[in-house]
Amino acid sequence: MIKLRGITKAFGRNAVLKGIDLTVEKGEVVAILGPSGSGKTTLLRCINYLEKPSAGEISIGEFRVQCKKPAKKDIQALRRKTAMVFQQYNLFRHKTALENVMEGLIVVQRLPKQEARKRSVELLEKVGLGDKLDAYPSHLSGGQQQRVGIARALALNPEVILFDEPTSALDPELVGEVLAVIRKIAKEGITMIIVTHEMGFAQDVASHIVFMEGGAVVEEGPPRALFQSPKEERTRQFLARFT
Ligand code: ATP
Repeated sequence: MIKLRGITKAFGRNAVLKGIDLTVEKGEVVAILGPSGSGKTTLLRCINYLEKPSAGEISIGEFRVQCKKPAKKDIQALRRKTAMVFQQYNLFRHKTALENVMEGLIVVQRLPKQEARKRSVELLEKVGLGDKLDAYPSHLSGGQQQRVGIARALALNPEVILFDEPTSALDPELVGEVLAVIRKIAKEGITMIIVTHEMGFAQDVASHIVFMEGGAVVEEGPPRALFQSPKEERTRQFLARFT
């Protein structure tokens, strides 16, 4: 289980997260929705310390970090328990698809090269890229690059995968293939937190929806309840834009 308590973040005088509480059960897929600038990406980045929260507490299972004064080893542990899939893929340009996936297994998990290769091939096959092992990112479509990003995240065997708007940099015709891969791995029971603007996908794949605005959680609940009968006027107004 992942628990966020009182996560606060300010950039200078701009209070971007105003004390976020969130609980994600093991195997749950949580979608975070909300207008631009509401703090969704910042929250996601705080979970693995790509952004340093100003205050609050992050727990993953028994492991707990006090955000105000974390020990360096706690930050490293937090990063090992989480994997991020970025909007812009963030692949190594000078490495092949296979090498991109192998990197974390060799450097972080210290697997022998042959084992890392075997596991990486399996993961690239899983995301439908078994025929692109030796391709460099510049020779892959955006959708294929993002699928390499997903294989790389899976390789780390994290407690949770954090998806930061995984399809928003893609041409519309490539969105479907990436969503299909996320859907497939969601069914395997991997815990996921997904920031997305894809309402249909969120409704379909998530077991829990969180609606944020102005750095706070306005409303959360199961997709059906939240989409069909939102309690808060602000949620209603936001969702009305997509119907
Ligand atoms: P979008 O849907 O447009 O991606 P979001 O809900 O993910 O938006 P964030 O990207 O988390 O929102 O940004 C929330 C606020 O924090 C915005 O006002 C943004 O300008 C500010 N912000 C984010 N990152 C930084 C930064 N590194 N330095 C200063 N301000 C930042």
